[in-house]
Amino acid sequence: MAPVTINKAGKHYGGFEALKGVSVDISDGEFVVLVGPSGCGKSTLLRMIAGLEEITSGEIGIGNRVVNDLPPKERDIAMVFQNYALYPHMTVAQNMGFSLKLKGVPKTEIKAKVDRAAQILGLEKLLDRQPRQLSGGQRQRVAMGRAIVRDPQVFLFDEPLSNLDAKLRVQMRSEIKELHQRLKTTTIYVTHDQVEAMTMADKIVVMRDGIIEQMGTPLDLYDRPLNTFVAGFIGSPSMNFINGAAADGGFRTTDGILLPAVNVPASAAVYGIRPEHLHIDPNGIEIEVVVLEPTGSETQVIGRLGTQSINGIFRERITAQPGSKIKVAPDLSVVHLFDKDGKRVN
Ligand code: ATP
Repeated sequence: MAPVTINKAGKHYGGFEALKGVSVDISDGEFVVLVGPSGCGKSTLLRMIAGLEEITSGEIGIGNRVVNDLPPKERDIAMVFQNYALYPHMTVAQNMGFSLKLKGVPKTEIKAKVDRAAQILGLEKLLDRQPRQLSGGQRQRVAMGRAIVRDPQVFLFDEPLSNLDAKLRVQMRSEIKELHQRLKTTTIYVTHDQVEAMTMADKIVVMRDGIIEQMGTPLDLYDRPLNTFVAGFIGSPSMNFINGAAADGGFRTTDGILLPAVNVPASAAVYGIRPEHLHIDPNGIEIEVVVLEPTGSETQVIGRLGTQSINGIFRERITAQPGSKIKVAPDLSVVHLFDKDGKRVN
């Protein structure tokens, strides 16, 4: 295990600046998720930590060493890729033990380590198979097994679940989390899936266009997003953003509808409320139902507030017809207010 320090790390590809000097401190044993839309630079940062990509500026440290100029194999990291990168002609056991064999580790020791990893991952019965004889989830486990046997200081994951179907993704998500709880190895995990980030991370780093927008615990980001980008990215379905201005002790939408809010600063221009923080209230504001999506446990309402969109999620079974009106109220303690540039103002 080791801490990882990223200090003003920058990356240029020719004239293009993919990373604009980002800094992150990752403690020993921490599970950090780098998340952000396609092209934000998260894979570039991970590959720089792995040593697969040169660092243009700044410093990356693993343990107490600056690793900028160290080749990947000397960094004591193990990386798990999206496509698993298994050797097709080798068995599961050979795939898992290959890096140890290259290092000249004795056969009996390799076998012991492979057996232990196989047991942790439930692969004992598959050790003699070849990758093509495995399901996607099993291949993913072999790729993780290969990382585990090396007993590295840091695990790096690059979108490891994106090739799996939805159900398997959820299952592997908890397996990886459990693995981390068991091994307590410092882990850096890249995904564009905010649900993965929320459910797995000790700390989330939200990136956009080569910079860090915000980092913190999942609940920090959910409760106090610093801007509309993070607010819209974290949480599913996304937060509602309603344009308007401070007025009459509340917030008046551009359609002139007064929304309740406390301590609204004069600079407020966007009213943010998460769908799950609206509730049905006969004295509430009227919204028009556009589409109803019942899931059994709850009902999602895609609606309109004047000319703006608003979504709500309700425990109640709502039977309103599209085009009809329902009355809803926000939970006042979780109203978010942002200025015209999208910066949080309360
Ligand atoms: P995705 O989720 O799509 O993988 P990402 O956040 O991981 O996206 P990166 O792969 O880190 O994004 O890429 C960041 C930016 O750098 C992108 O705009 C990409 O086009 C650019 N980029 C990446 N690799 C190269 C390269 N070898 N040459 C030039 N530009 C590159």
